[in-house]
This record gives sequence, C-alpha cells and structure tokens, in this order.
Amino acid sequence: MKILYSPTHLSHVPEFEIFNGHPDAHAEVPSRIENINKSLIKNGFKVNNLTKKTPISLIVKTHKKEYVDFIKKGSVFLYPSVFPYNDLNQGRKLSNNLANHGKYSFDLYTPMLKNIFKIAHESSSLAYELSEEILNKKIKVGYSLCRPPGHHAEKARMGGYCYFNNSAIAAQNLSSKGKVAILDVDFHHGNGTQNIFYDRGDVLTISIHADPNWKFPFYTGFADEIGLYEGEGKNINFPLPKGTTNTQYQRTLEKTLKKIKDFQPKYLVVPLGLDTHRDDPIGGFQLTTDYYQKMAKTISDLKIPTLIIQEGGYNTALLGDNVVSFLKGFI
Ligand SMILES: [Zn+2]
Repeated sequence: MKILYSPTHLSHVPEFEIFNGHPDAHAEVPSRIENINKSLIKNGFKVNNLTKKTPISLIVKTHKKEYVDFIKKGSVFLYPSVFPYNDLNQGRKLSNNLANHGKYSFDLYTPMLKNIFKIAHESSSLAYELSEEILNKKIKVGYSLCRPPGHHAEKARMGGYCYFNNSAIAAQNLSSKGKVAILDVDFHHGNGTQNIFYDRGDVLTISIHADPNWKFPFYTGFADEIGLYEGEGKNINFPLPKGTTNTQYQRTLEKTLKKIKDFQPKYLVVPLGLDTHRDDPIGGFQLTTDYYQKMAKTISDLKIPTLIIQEGGYNTALLGDNVVSFLKGFI
C-alpha cells in the first residue's frame, strides 16, 4: 500500500461556516489530517510526499471549465449572498463576481479563501498521483491523505467543504484504461460524484450514507436516483437511518459488493469518511473503531486495484485510530 501526503493543506484554515445565519467554528480543520498522519507513522505506515500535479486538462474533463476558471480567479467574497433563482439565464455568462459566487456554490459551509485553487489542486494531486501508479501497475492499493475533501463538489458547484472532486478526478483518470467502481463510505451522500458520473455507463457510483431526509446534503442521495442514459442502473444509493449499527452497515456493505462484482470493474475508488463513527460530532451512525477494519477487509476481498481517498470525519482525536483500523484491513 502506498500512502501520499502533502503539507500544503496546512495553509487552508477556514475560520467559520454559517449555519442558521450564525458563524460557527469550521469543522474541516488542518489537525484532521495531521492527527491521521501522526497515527500512521506511529503504527509503522510509511507516508510519502507528493511528487506530481493533476494536469489541468484532467480537472476540466471532470469539472466544467467555467467553474475551474472561477476557482482559479477566486472571489472577493468569502461566501455567496444570493443563489440562482430562475432558469431563464442559466446559460448566460455573468460578469458580476457575487452572482458567479452564488452560481458556483450550493451552501454557506465552503468559503472562497485566497489560495483556494492551489489548495484544491494540491488535494486532487494526491489522488491523481496514486491513480497514475495504479494505472502503471506500480501499486495495488493507495491511500490519499488529502484535504479539503472532494465528494460533495459537483461538475460546476462547490459545497460541503469541497472544491475539486478528488475521487472523481482519480476515477476519471482510471476510466481511461477500464471500468471503474466508486464505493463512497462517507457518512454523507457523495452528491458531487453522483452528479459528475450520472450519465456514464463505464463508472459505477455507489454511496452508503445518512438518509437525506435527515442529514446533509438533503436534496440528493435517495434510492430512486439510478442514473441517466448509459448511466441508468449505474448509480446506486443506500440511504440508512439514524443510529445505524455495525451489523446493519455490514449487511448493506455486502449488498454493494455484489453490485460491484456484477459490474466487473478494473479499478475501485473508495471515498473514505470516518464521520460514520459513533462519536463523530456531525454524524449520527453508531460504527466503532474496530469495525472499520472489518469494513476494509470486506472491501479488500474484492481483490481489485483500489484507491482510498480521505473525505470526511470530524472527531479529530479519533480520526487517526479510525484510519489506522481501516487501512489495517487492507494489508
Ligand atoms: Zn461526510
């Protein structure tokens, strides 16, 4: 297994997010990744530094170019204040910065900080470099220790602390050489990944997550969202209720593995969120640290070259133990 890390994320420090009109302390903090890194080293894992950058051509194959340009240009505003309200001008190029900010965002949790392009680009590069090593058969399993996370970022919208969709960029790269399955095990629905591959027949997108009637991102993640055109039947959502236990989760996980086997992918991408843990401050499932090892063992039994990409998980003190438990299941 190869693990990749970059210290660039340390300069990404969102100060606050806005919930119910009030600024709250931001949950997506640098210590998340630093604590995982420390635990990995303490447990004998080798952590390597990044050496490659995601080509911009691959980012604009995954996201809309106009959105990538917006992130690159940056915004003078930290958060949007207005969101698109009418279908009439959907295709129109807008010159107003605040209008574009609303157009390319879907929440008030994901600030436009000054160096955001560099930060998001670097985060995607960790996943990209590992996807290249998998394509070149140098490794069978990779783990990208990245932030900001990516699975909420849609083709042309940031949100849920995500700017570029790291898992989708890696899957896009892998799909150049064969079919890809994505198994998203973050607590929240991977709405961005679903949005990006919704009409693709060569990328199977599966997400196990909190019922959107209960938790963020609210508008997607329902079981009847099955994909479009060639993608019909290739998007599978498993919304689960509050308080989901290890046993309930394992039962669902086994169902997803059957779907993956039937699809016969050449590569597997696993967006990994540890916000499914019982002590996560923004979660609501009951999974335990020990269970992550069993979860990973079950996935690794597929014996498909696999790229694990760090997504959510907000109990900073427990993140290291939880990731170590998961990765041990892959050894
Ligand atoms: Zn999450």
